[in-house]
Formats: sequence, structure tokens, C-alpha cells
Amino acid sequence: MREPIEDTIAPLPGLVDAHSHTWTSPEFDADYPRVTERAWAAGLVGVVEAATDAASAAVCLELAREDARIIAAVGLHPEHADRMAEDRSAIEALARDPLTRAIGEIGLDFSRGADVPWPTRTEQQTAIEWQLELARELRVPVAIHTREADAEGWATLSAWVKRVGRYLGPDREVGMMHCFPGDEELAARYLDLGFLISVPGTVTFANSKRGQAVARAIPLEGMLVETDSPYLTPVPYRGRRNEPACVAETARFIASLRGCAAEEVARATSANAARLFGVTLPTA
Ligand SMILES: [Zn+2]
Repeated sequence: MREPIEDTIAPLPGLVDAHSHTWTSPEFDADYPRVTERAWAAGLVGVVEAATDAASAAVCLELAREDARIIAAVGLHPEHADRMAEDRSAIEALARDPLTRAIGEIGLDFSRGADVPWPTRTEQQTAIEWQLELARELRVPVAIHTREADAEGWATLSAWVKRVGRYLGPDREVGMMHCFPGDEELAARYLDLGFLISVPGTVTFANSKRGQAVARAIPLEGMLVETDSPYLTPVPYRGRRNEPACVAETARFIASLRGCAAEEVARATSANAARLFGVTLPTA
């Protein structure tokens, strides 16, 4: 377990954390009400809670029912792709809940060596194809995780969009690339394809030259910001347990990279999140 952050995080009103695993992670079991309060105190107006399997998907929906600021994403993560037989029908039922605002977190993760138990590439491919179809059928966007699968991810998603088109309408994206791992060139291709690029806290790391180049290059209308709590904690809290409030640090860092006001980053990324997930957010 990582050490919680005790400092008060300076607020940045109107932000949305576009991807977290806060209430569904055991790392917050002891203090999640306090972490929730810290998120609202930091000025957040929405947090996307992303499921990784059927059990966490049910929790995401319960949370969304209790608090309109929590946006539920329902799906089977590539790390659990070998559980499709057990989880598929439950996820399909939960995905039909009108509070399901995205199918996620889904994707391809080829980062593990053969020594670690991990779903095969075929299992992962089957799980993502099923869930891409589910998203189109239910007319919700997708939240995508790709790791060491740039080429395979692009091949899968570009073929899908070619087949289904901009099924949420010409003015709405069809998905987000959570914790975008690629370079500027790949980011530009995903923007063209109809995806938003989500920038995580790792952009603040001194050695994150590629992430910083992406955060500088893409238009604000194509950007989301996220924590991926409890992981990927931004500077100055690197190494501690991440939490939604920290998205304010990431947004401020992006503003400094781009030479614009942090409020501008907050306004644009939250408008993008509202459009993608089809939600109305309180204005800051
Ligand atoms: Zn995640």
C-alpha cells in the first residue's frame, strides 16, 4: 500500500478526473469518505470510476446512483480477459443500466512476460472485440487501455471505427485513450479517428519527454486529464497513493507546459469529458 497524501491540494475549480479506480480499489478502504471530500474540495465536478471486472462494475454503478458527480464506466480490463466466461453476462446486464456512461476499462496489454500469469493475446483480442461491439450497440463511448500494444491497438480500433463510424454523432468522439502511451504522431491519428487523448500524472515526471510532447502538441479540444488513482501519482506526490484531487496538479503542469492558464485546461478538458460521456456537469 502506498502512503496517502496528507497535504491540502490547491483547488482548480471545474475539473473532471477522466479515469480513476478510487472507490473500487482496496487501497482506499480505510479512508474513502475523506478522499471523496478532498476531491470535491479540490474543485472537481466529476470523476470517472472505471471498472475492471463485473464486481467492480456493480460498485461503479452504485456510486453513480448515489452521487451524480461519479461517472460509471463498465467493462472487463485486459488483465481479466481470461474471465470472459464468468463475467460476460453480468457485464452485459450492468452495461444496459442508463448510468453506464462508457464501456471501460477495456484494451490490450502485452507488457507482461511469459513468467507472469496473464491473459493471452487471443483472450484479450476476443474481450476487446466483444466490448467494442457492446459499446456501439448501447451507444456509449469506450475507455481504452493499451500498453506495449500500439500497433495492435491501432489496428483494432481503426478497423472498428471504419466499420461502425462516428456512431454517437458527428460532434461526439467514440472513445478515450486512457493514460495515452504513444507519441505525438499516434495521438494525432487517434484524434482524427474520433478519440480523446487522456493525459495522466506521469506527464509531470522529468523523464516523461514523450508524454510532455503529446500534452504540448494536441489541441485542448482533444484532451482529457486523469489520475488513474491509486496509480501514476503526479509530482510533487510521486510515490504516494494517487487520488482524484491530484488531477489539479496534473492540469496545472499541463498549463505551464502550454503557457496557458490552468483554468483554461480545466474548462476545456471538462467540456470534452461532458461531451464524450454525455453528461451535464455543474459549471465552476
Ligand atoms: Zn485504469
